[in-house]
Amino acid sequence: MTMIHKLIGIRDGGEVFQGYAAREFAKQGVQPGELAIISKEAVAPYERPALSKAYLFPEGAARLPGFHVCVGSGGERLLPEWYKENGIELILNTEIVKADLASKSLTSAAGETFKYKILIIATGSTVLKLTDFKVEGADAKNILYLREIDDADKLVEAIKAKKNGKAAVIVGGGYIGLELSAVLKINNFDVKMVYPEPWCMPRLFTADIAAFYEGYYEKKGVNIIKGTMASGFTKNDNGEVKEVKLKDGRVLEADIVVVGVGARPLTNLFKGQVEEDKGGIKTDAFFKTSVPDVYAVGDVATFPMKMYGDIRRVEHVDHSRKSAKQAVKAIFASEQGKDIEAYDYLPYFYSR
Ligand SMILES: Cc1cc2nc3c(=O)[nH]c(=O)nc-3n(C[C@H](O)[C@H](O)[C@H](O)COP(=O)(O)OP(=O)(O)OC[C@H]3O[C@@H](n4cnc5c(N)ncnc54)[C@H](O)[C@@H]3O)c2cc1C
Repeated sequence: MTMIHKLIGIRDGGEVFQGYAAREFAKQGVQPGELAIISKEAVAPYERPALSKAYLFPEGAARLPGFHVCVGSGGERLLPEWYKENGIELILNTEIVKADLASKSLTSAAGETFKYKILIIATGSTVLKLTDFKVEGADAKNILYLREIDDADKLVEAIKAKKNGKAAVIVGGGYIGLELSAVLKINNFDVKMVYPEPWCMPRLFTADIAAFYEGYYEKKGVNIIKGTMASGFTKNDNGEVKEVKLKDGRVLEADIVVVGVGARPLTNLFKGQVEEDKGGIKTDAFFKTSVPDVYAVGDVATFPMKMYGDIRRVEHVDHSRKSAKQAVKAIFASEQGKDIEAYDYLPYFYSR
């Protein structure tokens, strides 16, 4: 997504970021017509983490407008009317396909041009797909991914169509894999989880912490297969996935496969125009990029992390909310000739 300040200002992307930034803009006194948010999604900013949790519950599932931002942090729920009442333009269903930072303009897929004074890039991430790695049969129906609400709706449909005793294979041992295994088990699937690492969430968990969770999952009936990976899929006559072939030669039955093997920050639009580092857009502690009047926040920002004395990128919702606030404060402070404190982030992640 993109957002524009002084409409003439855009802030690009950021479902989660956008809502939190919009609230901070309103707090700081943005005037009607000064701020626009552009998103390719069809709905107002929402709490993305809900998609892998209550959105997929068999009963009492979360649905919009229940989880628009900022309910995830205990804040006010910003419905589409809130943006209208605050003079903030929400430009939905609009994908930006070209960004020209030198002329301060963005072009949408429909050919519309947006000029901005200040741009905030918050395009987030896109999932890595097994088709990207040319895994045999990875284009089969019912091999699913999860990033946006449309993906979650496809999952809901597949769960409804299969369910009760059918076989689900989850590829990946990160938080998406763990949350999806749990929710498919709740939907009464026979769940197997496959990942190549020696334990789940290896970048965050120690072996001991992981052993606790793996034991808990096993007790709930989730079968964990470690140290190997999905190397191919077979399909039935309808083109639906039928089996998952593992690298170690085993074959697993599957009516549905959910893949959570990581994500890639969406920086393509800005390649060659702004300084990058560690896979993201490089910023200072105020989320300013190397280009004047261009900020980057959330998943795409590579920012200085004081506690490590290093620059890092963080793909967590707490950081997307806090970086949004920091960037907006910095914009207002620089307009008023004031100083604000540098971002000092303690990495924080939650799951459920
Ligand atoms: C299913 C799921 C569950 C998660 N659960 C947790 C959790 O429990 N805890 C946690 O800490 N983190 C979790 N995360 C991670 C967290 O949601 C992200 O770190 C956060 O959403 C990043 O916010 P963002 O604003 O940078 O980008 P995003 O929220 O990804 O928003 C980016 C927006 O930009 C839009 N966009 C991209 N390109 C364009 C373009 N060219 N034109 C127009 N619009 C564009 C996208 O459509 C999207 O709406 C989860 C993520 C997912 C996908």
